[in-house]
Amino acid sequence: MAKVKVASAWLDCCSGCHMSFLDMDEILIDLADVIELTASPITDIKEFSPVDVGIIEGSVSNEHDEQVAKNLRANCKILMVLGDCACFGGINSMRNLFTIEEVLHRYYSTESTTKDSKIPSSEDIPPLTEVKPVNQVVKVDCYVPGCPPSAKAIHYALTELLAGRIPVLPSEMMRFD
Ligand code: SF4
Repeated sequence: MAKVKVASAWLDCCSGCHMSFLDMDEILIDLADVIELTASPITDIKEFSPVDVGIIEGSVSNEHDEQVAKNLRANCKILMVLGDCACFGGINSMRNLFTIEEVLHRYYSTESTTKDSKIPSSEDIPPLTEVKPVNQVVKVDCYVPGCPPSAKAIHYALTELLAGRIPVLPSEMMRFD
């Protein structure tokens, strides 16, 4: 039987959700029999090709994130968002309390930088936008919240998808343990 193709991307994130994916440990060996991981930070393949399931970690916080989310959405049948940043904006959305100028100033011109420090322009870094959950940019089919979601929750979600069901996480899997 053909393997289910999966691609994943990380946007504005700490990579903790992908680390939790890897925390499935030996289960990954069984999953490798039925899943082919294509483009992903784990495989370091960056170009998306058509897949069955797309997974996004992280919020949409700049124009590049938005392009990546749209690109993966266009290449997957089912899009699953992983973690509170992707589901709700998460801790990153705290910066929405400030203007983008204030945020850039805080990042690049603090007490610890020299007086010659330069705040990068949009030619240097992707232009920042308001921080958004992924579903404000593209259609999302299923949600795996948590910061990060536990390996158990990720395994449950993938198992449901492999069985042809859209996963709805039981409440006991909504917290990390
Ligand atoms: S949800 Fe938590 S673990 Fe996942 S990227 Fe955001 S901060 Fe990191």
